Amino acid sequence: MQCQTIKMDKDCFFWAEECTFPGGQCRNVVEKCEGCNRTEEWPTGKYCASYPAPDKHWNLGMCNMATHIKLEEAGVQKALNPLKASKRMSGRR
Ligand code: SF4
Repeated sequence: MQCQTIKMDKDCFFWAEECTFPGGQCRNVVEKCEGCNRTEEWPTGKYCASYPAPDKHWNLGMCNMATHIKLEEAGVQKALNPLKASKRMSGRR
Protein backbone atom coordinates (compact mmCIF):
# COMPACT_ATOMS: atom_id res chain seq x y z
CA MET A 1 0.00 0.00 0.00
CA GLN A 2 1.05 3.59 -0.41
CA CYS A 3 1.77 6.03 2.36
CA GLN A 4 -0.78 8.82 2.74
CA THR A 5 0.93 10.81 5.48
CA ILE A 6 4.52 12.09 5.28
CA LYS A 7 5.88 10.11 2.30
CA MET A 8 2.91 10.61 0.02
CA ASP A 9 2.34 7.75 -2.47
CA LYS A 10 5.48 5.83 -1.54
CA ASP A 11 4.98 2.07 -1.25
CA CYS A 12 5.07 1.16 2.40
CA PHE A 13 4.78 -2.06 4.35
CA PHE A 14 3.12 -0.29 7.29
CA TRP A 15 0.27 1.37 5.43
CA ALA A 16 -3.14 -0.32 5.80
CA GLU A 17 -5.89 2.31 5.65
CA GLU A 18 -3.76 4.13 8.21
CA CYS A 19 -0.14 3.95 9.31
CA THR A 20 0.35 0.93 11.54
CA PHE A 21 3.86 1.92 12.62
CA PRO A 22 3.99 2.90 16.33
CA GLY A 23 3.57 6.66 16.49
CA GLY A 24 1.62 6.79 13.25
CA GLN A 25 4.47 7.90 11.00
CA CYS A 26 8.16 7.45 10.21
CA ARG A 27 10.69 9.27 12.36
CA ASN A 28 13.29 11.66 10.94
CA VAL A 29 16.87 10.52 10.43
CA VAL A 30 19.32 11.26 13.23
CA GLU A 31 22.65 13.09 13.10
CA LYS A 32 24.58 9.83 12.70
CA CYS A 33 22.70 9.13 9.44
CA GLU A 34 24.33 12.15 7.73
CA GLY A 35 26.08 10.91 4.59
CA CYS A 36 24.18 7.64 4.29
CA ASN A 37 22.83 6.88 0.82
CA ARG A 38 19.58 5.60 2.29
CA THR A 39 18.43 9.00 3.50
CA GLU A 40 15.58 10.52 1.49
CA GLU A 41 14.53 14.14 1.33
CA TRP A 42 10.76 14.68 1.44
CA PRO A 43 8.82 17.94 1.69
CA THR A 44 8.05 16.85 5.25
CA GLY A 45 11.72 16.26 6.18
CA LYS A 46 14.54 13.73 5.87
CA TYR A 47 13.75 10.07 6.35
CA CYS A 48 15.44 6.72 5.97
CA ALA A 49 14.45 4.62 2.95
CA SER A 50 15.02 1.40 4.90
CA TYR A 51 13.89 2.01 8.47
CA PRO A 52 10.95 3.99 9.86
CA ALA A 53 12.81 4.61 13.14
CA PRO A 54 16.48 5.40 12.38
CA ASP A 55 17.24 6.37 15.99
CA LYS A 56 16.56 2.80 17.15
CA HIS A 57 19.18 1.42 14.78
CA TRP A 58 21.89 3.53 16.35
CA ASN A 59 20.91 2.83 19.95
CA LEU A 60 22.79 -0.46 20.16
CA GLY A 61 25.92 0.70 18.34
CA MET A 62 26.02 1.08 14.60
CA CYS A 63 23.18 0.89 12.07
CA ASN A 64 23.66 -2.32 10.10
CA MET A 65 22.37 -0.73 6.88
CA ALA A 66 24.52 2.41 6.98
CA THR A 67 26.35 2.98 3.69
CA HIS A 68 28.68 5.71 4.92
CA ILE A 69 30.53 3.85 7.69
CA LYS A 70 32.58 0.72 7.24
CA LEU A 71 32.83 -1.88 10.02
CA GLU A 72 36.60 -1.45 10.31
CA GLU A 73 36.25 2.33 10.68
CA ALA A 74 33.65 1.89 13.38
CA GLY A 75 35.90 -0.49 15.27
CA VAL A 76 33.34 -3.27 15.09
CA GLN A 77 34.74 -6.73 14.58
CA LYS A 78 32.83 -9.23 12.56
CA ALA A 79 31.45 -12.02 14.72
CA LEU A 80 33.41 -15.22 14.29
CA ASN A 81 31.58 -18.51 14.24
CA PRO A 82 33.84 -20.87 16.25
CA LEU A 83 32.54 -23.97 14.47
CA LYS A 84 33.29 -22.56 11.02
CA ALA A 85 36.69 -21.31 12.17
CA SER A 86 37.52 -24.79 13.48
CA LYS A 87 36.52 -26.42 10.17
CA ARG A 88 38.54 -23.86 8.25
CA MET A 89 41.60 -24.59 10.37
CA SER A 90 41.25 -28.37 10.00
CA GLY A 91 41.14 -27.97 6.19
CA ARG A 92 44.54 -26.26 6.23
CA ARG A 93 46.34 -29.22 7.80
S1 SF4 B 1 20.24 3.00 6.76
FE1 SF4 B 1 20.80 3.45 8.90
S2 SF4 B 1 22.33 5.10 8.73
FE2 SF4 B 1 21.27 4.99 6.76
S3 SF4 B 1 19.64 6.51 6.92
FE3 SF4 B 1 18.77 4.51 7.51
S4 SF4 B 1 18.99 4.44 9.76
FE4 SF4 B 1 20.33 6.08 9.01
